[in-house]
Amino acid sequence: MRRNLHIKLVLIMVLLIVSLMVVVGAFLMNSVTGYYINDFYQQIADAFGPDNADFVRNLQTATPGEEDGAAMVQEVLSAYAGILGVDRRNRNFFVLDGATGRCLGGSAVPPEGGVTVTPNISAALLGTPGFDSSVTADYMDAAIPITRDGHSYIVYILDSRETARSLNAEMFSLIMEALALGLIISVLLSFLLSKTMVDPLQRLTDGIEQVAQGDFSRKLEITSSDEIGQLTESFNAMAQQLETNIAELEKAEQQRKDFVANVSHELRTPLTNIKSYAETLADGVGELPAEMEQRFLGVILNESDRMTHILQDLLTLSRFDSGRSELRLTAFPFAKAVDDTYQAVLMDAQNHAHTVELRLPEHLPQVRADRERIMQVMMNIVSNAIKYTPDGGRIVLSAGQTGNQVWMEVDDNGIGIPKGDRGRIFERFYRVDKARSRQSGGTGLGLSIAQEIMKQHEGRLYLVDKSEPGLTIRMELPIRGPGEEAGHGG
Ligand code: ADP
Repeated sequence: MRRNLHIKLVLIMVLLIVSLMVVVGAFLMNSVTGYYINDFYQQIADAFGPDNADFVRNLQTATPGEEDGAAMVQEVLSAYAGILGVDRRNRNFFVLDGATGRCLGGSAVPPEGGVTVTPNISAALLGTPGFDSSVTADYMDAAIPITRDGHSYIVYILDSRETARSLNAEMFSLIMEALALGLIISVLLSFLLSKTMVDPLQRLTDGIEQVAQGDFSRKLEITSSDEIGQLTESFNAMAQQLETNIAELEKAEQQRKDFVANVSHELRTPLTNIKSYAETLADGVGELPAEMEQRFLGVILNESDRMTHILQDLLTLSRFDSGRSELRLTAFPFAKAVDDTYQAVLMDAQNHAHTVELRLPEHLPQVRADRERIMQVMMNIVSNAIKYTPDGGRIVLSAGQTGNQVWMEVDDNGIGIPKGDRGRIFERFYRVDKARSRQSGGTGLGLSIAQEIMKQHEGRLYLVDKSEPGLTIRMELPIRGPGEEAGHGG
């Protein structure tokens, strides 16, 4: 990757420099030529303009007794060579016959066969001055017709453009030198640039490879606030998210394994009991005392009930998990549900010599919820308080409203839950004291189901911190029911 990006950078730099130089060079050379052409015509126009009336007059006025007009014109032109810029090397003048274009003399020996008839000379032969030159031609010329002593001549000035050409050549070599220097600088710069760009990318790549191999321990260092810095930051965030997700997945996987182990274990115990009692009964048909047979059959029935119970609870949980469990929402008075729960457990509590106190405020609102399920939660937590409080205990059932929620709290002075177990009692099959729970017909699924029910209602079920012995558990329920916007009045 490093090499690739580097080559690209160098190529970009080189292309940039070359194209810049080509454009600048072409532009410069073109304007130098243009400048020379303009300057040439300006100079000729000035020479024949009002400022040099002498020159024009001397050209056109014949001296008395003059024999060779062309020679005189040539003499005048030689005298005024300075204002025409004639240097006799790159720029020369010629005197042409105004009617034929034949060369009659000049500052230099005319080429073999006379001066070439250019478009400007053709124009002058027709009587108009020729003042035109293309940028691409390798010469520039001007042809001005004059009349002297009744004869017409053409003053022809021819410039080889050598000055412009040599200047352009000079400029070209300068540009080439600049180009070479620019290329060296650009290669050096691209080395530097690629270092600042490629190094962080390389680090990022290394980091990604590490993460790809499952190592999330190293956070990539963010060295800049540019796009690469942002990319690194996003990558770190992504890696962290991935780590969390994987941890969650692993936890879920562990829970699933535990769950399967728990289910097997929970079902095996009653099955083993049923099997051994049934075997005993089968082995001793007609030999066992009737009252013993009765007791064994009772155990078998009990254990089958227990299995049915566990399976029913598991089915309920599985419906919650798959989202197939629909709430049957109705409106009902919350206070009535609390009171019904209280009435339902009163007898059981009295059997254990518990005192149960009910604290219900005067006005509690109607709630929209699945009444049967809410009652199931209430019964579960009150039954637990009765189960896990030694006989003669005190249980307080209180309810109330806070904002747009109603709540019910069950407080007991029973055995409570050791600190280490508090976080886990809502887990499936989790029981602090397995023997005690099983003895009282508990499956360890009651609180998990209760919590799922509260979640479905967008409410909560949780342990309240308290310093005294025993346990306080609290359920909270939104009055408007699940899926409804809060604060619609009422
Ligand atoms: P179980 O069917 O065993 O009662 P739950 O899910 O209802 O199952 O409760 C889970 C565990 O939480 C119980 O086994 C018990 O250890 C503990 N627990 C629940 N309520 C109380 C309570 N009021 N006091 C002490 N421990 C409790």
